Amino acid sequence: MQYLSTRGGVSSLSFTQAVMMGLAEDGGLLLPRTIPRIGSETLVSWKELSYPDLAFEIMSRFIDDIPSSSLKDIINRSYATFSNEEITPIVHYGDFHILELFHGPTLAFKDIALQFLGNLFEYLLEKNDLKLNILGATSGDTGSAAIYGVRGKERINIFILHPHQRVSRVQEKQMTTVTDSNVFNIAIRGSFDDGQAIVKSLFGDVEFKNQYNLGAINSINWARILAQVVYYVHSCLHVITHEKDSSLDFTIPTGNFGDIFAGFIAKKMLPAGTVRQLTLATNSNDILCRFVNSGNYSLGDVKITSSPSMDIQAASNFERYLYYLMDQNSTKTVELMEEFSSNGTIDLTDYQEQIRRDFAATSISEDEVSNTILNFYKEYGYILDPHTAVGIKAAEKFKTAGVPMICLATAHPAKFSEIVNSATGVLPPTVGVLSGIMEAESRCEIMEAEEKDIREYISQHALQ
Ligand SMILES: *Cc1c(COP(=O)(O)O)cnc(C)c1O
Repeated sequence: MQYLSTRGGVSSLSFTQAVMMGLAEDGGLLLPRTIPRIGSETLVSWKELSYPDLAFEIMSRFIDDIPSSSLKDIINRSYATFSNEEITPIVHYGDFHILELFHGPTLAFKDIALQFLGNLFEYLLEKNDLKLNILGATSGDTGSAAIYGVRGKERINIFILHPHQRVSRVQEKQMTTVTDSNVFNIAIRGSFDDGQAIVKSLFGDVEFKNQYNLGAINSINWARILAQVVYYVHSCLHVITHEKDSSLDFTIPTGNFGDIFAGFIAKKMLPAGTVRQLTLATNSNDILCRFVNSGNYSLGDVKITSSPSMDIQAASNFERYLYYLMDQNSTKTVELMEEFSSNGTIDLTDYQEQIRRDFAATSISEDEVSNTILNFYKEYGYILDPHTAVGIKAAEKFKTAGVPMICLATAHPAKFSEIVNSATGVLPPTVGVLSGIMEAESRCEIMEAEEKDIREYISQHALQ
């Protein structure tokens, strides 16, 4: 399988090259040249496969430059760290099938991709005798999932910037109690945006980037999307088995458009009609919802909500969808992205019919989130985290009788116990991996939000 850029300046990359490049060198995002199709017979023959075996079947259709035995080994090790045997189990309450994606080491769905990416990087670096310095900024969840993905790996150092005292206590401890010598937590005296700006600027300095072989871990990396395609197919197999249906819907709590884009790819791969509708659920940061419902993609101000991992305006994966919406025309994609970066808005009303065929969308208010957590708890005794609650509320609005609805549960409620507690008056059950975390030894450098200081710190601690 060959990979190319949405902007047309990079093509004919191997999977390995695409993973190592992250963001395409022409500023675009990388995609496979074609999306492989899965026939009904093949799909049926996968029914009994374990999660890792299914992952191998799907991923090997996109990866042809890693020997099967190595790919299998990478996949198996990536999912051996999950606390649930089924990896992504489904629970059933009322009208909904809840796909629990939070049984990885940091209790958020990002583990599914980042456990895999960490092992994949390790394998590729070893094979090519390279070293990598990963640099990223986090508002909470991505940082810990990335750190757990690469902790203890010999050829990788990881530098994660988080805003000092502006992430939750649990999130802070999840990152800083990983004291492996290759992990560098930096708390900057500033906001998430300050951290993000520093990271962007360092990546933009090509000399610095190449000198230290800087690598990114955000969801622009194709390997992350690919790993997420797997649970869409896995859950289709699971739910269709149970209900003899041939068609189903998904609702996805959305921030950077990575998770729902994986659903979009899964929909294209599966036999037509298997996935009927993808519902995009945002919190009050509703740029994507406004896009689907009006055809206008235009920036607003970032609002702080109870689902912080979705407090995003410009979604980094949007360009991938735009490329398909433009019928894989990279010239049009570039024009539109340039228009967006100069004006903060693009008009896609001419494409509205297609957009509406691809997605339904709604935005959920803060009151709706807390009421949904409370009502679901009262009715079923099941505790939703605030991100998952955004999805459940959206699913209530879009549920069609007779069509199963799968709702993606993206974080464990124990990660957001204060919000859960204020909505319901109870605390979510504690989880093994979090017990003792508050008292555990931790390591973190507190620094000013100054690019030159961060640059200096990285040059002192980077692998060379
Ligand atoms: C990252 C995250 C999301 C949003 O996922 P995207 O791929 O950015 O759309 C939703 N919920 C949780 C808990 C997350 O950590």
